[in-house]
Amino acid sequence: MHELGIVLSIADKVMEVARANQLTEIKAITMQIGEISSVIPEYLEKCFPAAAERNPLFENTELKIEILPARYLCHVCGESFSLGEFEEAKGCPSCKENQLLELLTGRECFIKNIEAW
Ligand SMILES: [Zn+2]
Repeated sequence: MHELGIVLSIADKVMEVARANQLTEIKAITMQIGEISSVIPEYLEKCFPAAAERNPLFENTELKIEILPARYLCHVCGESFSLGEFEEAKGCPSCKENQLLELLTGRECFIKNIEAW
């Protein structure tokens, strides 16, 4: 489980932003996580209190998580499609290719937005 490390680095980054902007309280942090990223949103939520502990900046912080859908591009026919379509067709839905596919989105893990006082 590497979510604690991720949460700690998020906390570090937010603290940097808070310091630079002289923020005293972080209201909410919005994270964007790709649908097939190795990060499990539930674990992230569970680990967050550990990272927030003993830090007055995060006393009332809400962690919001947005899931970004995965999309693939087929290098054979140029079609792009979702994870659901890929699973259903077991490859590219239009030409059935299952090797020359590129993941366009779906592995993201970043801070989208910080709300603060
Ligand atoms: Zn194709």
